[in-house]
Amino acid sequence: MDIKKSGMIAVVGRPNVGKSTLSNTLAGEKVAIVTNKPQTTRNRICAVCNRGETQFVIVDTPGFHLPRSKLGEYMVKVASESVSGVDAAVLMVEPIARVGTPEQKLIERLDALHVPTVLAVNKTDALERRETLLEVIGAYSQAFAFAAYVPISAKTGDGTDALLDELEKFVPEGHMLFPEGMSSDQPDRHLTAEIIREKALLCLDREVPHGLAIEIERFLERDNGIVEVGAVIYCEKESHKGIIIGKNGASLKKIGELARQELESFFGAKVFLETWVKVRPGWRDSAPGLRNFGFK
Ligand code: GDP
Ligand code: MG
Repeated sequence: MDIKKSGMIAVVGRPNVGKSTLSNTLAGEKVAIVTNKPQTTRNRICAVCNRGETQFVIVDTPGFHLPRSKLGEYMVKVASESVSGVDAAVLMVEPIARVGTPEQKLIERLDALHVPTVLAVNKTDALERRETLLEVIGAYSQAFAFAAYVPISAKTGDGTDALLDELEKFVPEGHMLFPEGMSSDQPDRHLTAEIIREKALLCLDREVPHGLAIEIERFLERDNGIVEVGAVIYCEKESHKGIIIGKNGASLKKIGELARQELESFFGAKVFLETWVKVRPGWRDSAPGLRNFGFK
């Protein structure tokens, strides 16, 4: 099918509401990492979804929150910027019948930028009372004149077709923004780093919260098809380094093993993964430090 319409859609909402899950569901493969910890999506990530004659380019944004370190400020900036210049936005909310402070702030921003916005009430699969939905929609319709109100489950895909139907109304005629077969504009290196970081967060639980960055030092495909990756896990404290490595290296081994398995299924190739742990104190608060890790 020829693509005749193409548009950019920003998905905004508080951390953990399910933005990355929606991007993944729409793209049909993993492009943004999903964990149960807030703020795992640091960069602006596009998922591409072709449906009929329309190409939707989904911009997944970091959660809207109050700045603490420079990394926090950066994330708020990206969240605000990703809303300008898009054709439409989705404000994704939990099925709670009260407009929270982050939602209120996002609504003000969307209103000021005149972005047509669809309200997506997520996690309907976990809803106990259907009536709650009406209450949620009632509360939000008083706060802002949304273009539409769509209950969805980003996890199961329920309602996502109806959501695209609503968004399609704002997608202009135009060329494809991304070529066929491409579902993400993030280079392989970046995805690799995100996958390793996701596994580290999973394995380390709350012990080393957000002071982790992954740098891909080596990324190459050998002649025999094996993908070779060398990655450095940076942490902020010497004590964190010990936790990441674990007793007899057990923790780092587990992180590497989980990451390798996922990378192999993602690239459809055997992956040779080497990981190191290094300490770089205060990387989150230094602007040059941030640039080194790909935060522009
Ligand atoms: P983000 O921070 O907004 O990008 O949120 P994520 O996509 O990373 O999801 C945060 C958590 O919510 C994860 O544990 C997801 O599995 C969960 N989640 C996301 N969408 C749904 C949904 O539709 N239903 C349920 N039950 N859980 C969901
Ligand atoms: Mg996310």
